[in-house]
Amino acid sequence: MNDAAPDIGPGAVTRLEAVEHRIQRAARIAGRNADEITLVAISKTHDAAAIEPLLHAGHRVFGENRVQEAQEKWPAMRARYEGVKLHLVGQLQSNKAEDAAALFDCIHSLDRNSLLKALAKAFDKLDRRVPCFVQVDIGDEPQKGGCPIPELPAFLERARLADIPLAGLMCVPPQGIEPAPFFALLDKLARDNGLETGTGLSMGMSGDFETAVKLGATHVRVGSALFGERPAQG
Ligand SMILES: *Cc1c(COP(=O)(O)O)cnc(C)c1O
Repeated sequence: MNDAAPDIGPGAVTRLEAVEHRIQRAARIAGRNADEITLVAISKTHDAAAIEPLLHAGHRVFGENRVQEAQEKWPAMRARYEGVKLHLVGQLQSNKAEDAAALFDCIHSLDRNSLLKALAKAFDKLDRRVPCFVQVDIGDEPQKGGCPIPELPAFLERARLADIPLAGLMCVPPQGIEPAPFFALLDKLARDNGLETGTGLSMGMSGDFETAVKLGATHVRVGSALFGERPAQG
């Protein structure tokens, strides 16, 4: 690997600054402190050449949605840049739980009993407990994954009993409808279920992260606004 500073591609760092600025402005409008909000740069499908300008600019929190892709991409970049935090977003198969627990610093898609059991087992085996957001099926779209809303209280209880560190709740609202009511509902579910204030809300993507920030997001997951459009994932 070449040790020279990466080419600051036209736009990558400018886009990072623009997204950070928009987060700050949305936080200010809502009377929030932008320091409470973590920008997770979703780098799925993008290679090191696209990611390194952001690392070079000082950004450290990234998200991937496939365990194997992250295993291939990140060890080399982690060796070059200190303090990288990797988040897993998107559906996780139980048979990948141990690999995910070993690689990631945060998991945004805990959503069912089989995965809960597999992660609890992996955490014990590795002696490493990774904070997990419980993904909620906020728009009643089971194909996207997520715990059904009526099952959420029991599922959270099970996660607590299994000693899973709970980072908060996560959602992906249905496409093409105003997302604000879904973000507000996620916040209400967190409070109704006794998740302490300060626990996280992982919500907001490229198209709606400012709305999410205004409604309490602590983690926004932004891909295309930082990296440009992705090729379709096969
Ligand atoms: C890909 C992805 C994102 C980022 O989406 P953009 O619209 O590109 O910002 C956020 N969250 C999840 C779960 C994703 O899979």
